[in-house]
Amino acid sequence: MGRRLPVILVVGGGVVGLGVARDLARREADVTLVDRDDLGGTTTGRSHGLLHSGARYATTDEESARACAREARVLKRIAGAAIRETGGLVVALPDDPANAVERRLAACERCSIPAERVGPEGARAIEPALTDRIDGAVAVPDAVVSPARLAAAVAAGAERAGATLEPNAPVTAIETAGGRVETVVAGGRRFDVDAVVNATGAWADRVAGLAGGSVPLAPASGAMVGVDRPVGTVLNRCRPPDDGDIVLPRAVGEETVVGTTSRPTPDPDDPPRDGDEIERVLRAGRALVPDLPTEDVRPYWGVRPVVGDDGDTGDRTATRDFRVIDHGARDDVAGLTTVVGGKLTTYRRMAAAVGNHLAGRHGLTDESGTAEWPLPGHDDPARLDELVDRYGTRGPADGRPDPLAASQG
Ligand SMILES: Cc1cc2nc3c(=O)[nH]c(=O)nc-3n(C[C@H](O)[C@H](O)[C@H](O)COP(=O)(O)OP(=O)(O)OC[C@H]3O[C@@H](n4cnc5c(N)ncnc54)[C@H](O)[C@@H]3O)c2cc1C
Repeated sequence: MGRRLPVILVVGGGVVGLGVARDLARREADVTLVDRDDLGGTTTGRSHGLLHSGARYATTDEESARACAREARVLKRIAGAAIRETGGLVVALPDDPANAVERRLAACERCSIPAERVGPEGARAIEPALTDRIDGAVAVPDAVVSPARLAAAVAAGAERAGATLEPNAPVTAIETAGGRVETVVAGGRRFDVDAVVNATGAWADRVAGLAGGSVPLAPASGAMVGVDRPVGTVLNRCRPPDDGDIVLPRAVGEETVVGTTSRPTPDPDDPPRDGDEIERVLRAGRALVPDLPTEDVRPYWGVRPVVGDDGDTGDRTATRDFRVIDHGARDDVAGLTTVVGGKLTTYRRMAAAVGNHLAGRHGLTDESGTAEWPLPGHDDPARLDELVDRYGTRGPADGRPDPLAASQG
């Protein structure tokens, strides 16, 4: 008789949950993924779509910078058709800290991120839309990714590996027996499980709470604006991350995105949003690209699942790295694991960390090999767009209007 496979339910169909489903299915677990909505996630479909080279975090969060650098290289290999190779410029303006370019170059070198000094004229030759008030710039291998295409490719990869995907199935209860998770109620159905992975991002504390666990989350919302002023390069300010200091092209289409802000957000379903915030983002963006339009701007909002120690406020000093939380150790709820934090860019590494965590406990293969195996449609944009339609992964980050904008204050 064949070995009984461990039954694992993944909660959350954003890029992280989909990545976990693919990873665990490839390690031969019996995997079902549920999401309360369509697949493709909430925050996943509401990011900038910057495939971080790591340069943005190199001066403030070296661990995240190194992780982004490694994972961006992996994603270019396994998901090429979801990515547009734009290159990036980290631009120092006269208001930015003294020696900003030298400090960024040194930090990139420490993090093994290829980086090259570019003078003001060289920077404007790379990106003609740039302001002429430039002190200097650093050229880095930033790129842009379509969150919809990436999530759809990962969803197809998870199904191909044997996972079952169940959208529109909100988890409303997690029942335990003898201190272990036993049954999950999702979309009115009961799932008997050996383990649950909570990959619900900014909702992770709520979902862990259904089993009596908790997650030290400090969700932080960010506003972004889509405008019709094409740029060809990812532009970052050469200063610690601040409002409106990213301007970048979308991976698909002609729109440019300007972002973002960072505001504490107690309810991730209802991020604070107002016109002043949008104006602030655009004003800051105009410091980099002076002729950003004032008319016909398309705002959208996302909520970062920022995780830290209990008591973190989720401000910009909190790490952008991720945590795998074993709720058996943290809350005496065995069989429940949360993965949270990180970036779109690092979803695969987060998923592999969950797989490594569960492998020994459930007799799974040690290695999932997801860094080596290309995703379905990796070399075929048209195939990826079919998958986007099939899984319904298109969100505001891929140009779908944000319903939250209708109720902007
Ligand atoms: C403003 C902003 C800009 C960003 N820009 C970038 C960027 O340029 N590059 C980058 O790499 N990263 C970026 N990020 C970070 C990145 O978007 C996130 O880290 C990543 O998308 C999180 O994915 P996730 O799967 O954890 O969460 P999500 O995509 O939010 O997925 C969580 C899922 O859980 C589901 N869920 C919640 N509750 C339940 C329930 N009870 N039952 C079932 N399902 C449930 C939700 O429906 C959702 O689909 C940005 C984030 C923000 C906020």
